[in-house]
Amino acid sequence: MAKIGTRCVHAGYSPKKGEPRQLPIIQSTTFKYETSDQMGRLFDLEDSGYFYTRLQNPTVDAVAAQLCDLEGGVGAILTSSGQAANLFAVINIAGAGDHVIAANNIYGGTFNLLGVTLPKFGIGITFLKADASNEEIEAAIRPNTKLVFGETISNPGVEVFDIERWAAVAHKNGLPLIIDNTFATPCLCRPFEWGADIVTHSTTKFIDGHGVSVGGAVVDSGNFPWDRYSGKFPGLTTPDASYHGLTYTKKFGKAAYIVKCTTHLMRDLGSMQSPQNAFYLHLGLQTLHLRMARHSESALKVAKWLEQCPDVAWVRYPGLESDPHHALALKYCPDGCSGVLCFGLKGGRGFDKRFLDALKLTTIETHVADCHTCVLHPASHTHRQLSDEQLREAGIAPDLIRFSVGLEDPEDIIEDLKQALQCAKRA
Ligand code: PLP
Repeated sequence: MAKIGTRCVHAGYSPKKGEPRQLPIIQSTTFKYETSDQMGRLFDLEDSGYFYTRLQNPTVDAVAAQLCDLEGGVGAILTSSGQAANLFAVINIAGAGDHVIAANNIYGGTFNLLGVTLPKFGIGITFLKADASNEEIEAAIRPNTKLVFGETISNPGVEVFDIERWAAVAHKNGLPLIIDNTFATPCLCRPFEWGADIVTHSTTKFIDGHGVSVGGAVVDSGNFPWDRYSGKFPGLTTPDASYHGLTYTKKFGKAAYIVKCTTHLMRDLGSMQSPQNAFYLHLGLQTLHLRMARHSESALKVAKWLEQCPDVAWVRYPGLESDPHHALALKYCPDGCSGVLCFGLKGGRGFDKRFLDALKLTTIETHVADCHTCVLHPASHTHRQLSDEQLREAGIAPDLIRFSVGLEDPEDIIEDLKQALQCAKRA
């Protein structure tokens, strides 16, 4: 198999003679057929073919195939956002009366989805620390537990998830492990190689990489034996009345999970990605290997500089030897730990504010993980309604500054930090 950089450039789309070199944007909601029977067979899932872009579109499919190739899966779908990807990944196998387990350091939007919104639909949740022991994980598993969820590198705490260990515990108990691989991307970590069963992405981040399109993805490893645990995953292993009694595992084998995601969830809930946005992702994926290497290299330089800076109270970046997750980073992300790091300053809230206001090259954004260096102080921005104590309970240090190192020259990024600290001290 070709190396990952080559696959970034070529996977998903191979034009034949006389076809466009770059992936065409098929901007069409629907597709033409010649006989009524042809169309009927599509709706029975007897034939494959495009009929309506809410379910599938050639541009979107090519990019899904490109990402699927990079992750090493059997099938993938693109969604309208990362939130939609995580929602689909969970509700494809969990419904009212079921229960899921997730690491408590995951992205706030996913935390809220699992902790507040899905419980309203009858799906229970237990959050565990990412470093919970195997015994603690097993103690949280109930007869109605359907899956376990974590992030490769957590947002915003940049902690590395021990995928292999969690996968082993999940599998021992007949559960799939879903990993949100947004920050690492398949260029830095491929969770299926460590036992994860499903991977999700907010492609809005590094995969797009230029801050132009909100999107998400779900990728299926094809490895989880859904029908081994009789009755646990009835949506996949028993007849689906809405497709004339078809059983996904019987009809689609290893691709059962991802086919159901499209033919059932995408059909009923929408949330597809537009062909135009998929095209932007295609461009992003073609340079992902180069960008992730540069993001990681520059972030390590910035983290090392912050580590020795007297105004800095603490720095977290798994690429630093001093980081508590450095050993996990060497195992799961040996080629780099992405562009995101976080740190705290010694001067207190007022100092933090003056520092942020004094940054020139770095911009204040709720976004993270694209070519522009950007910064966010959750306590003053995304989580400003919470007290310091509530912030700590949510696993966010009140002084945490999330810093996303872009593709500018790292020396300029460090100069910007230096001058902003000087300004904050003078004020
Ligand atoms: N997962 C992670 C790790 C994220 O960082 C985000 C957004 O920041 C999401 C999911 C949600 O993605 P989106 O904003 O594309 O809906």
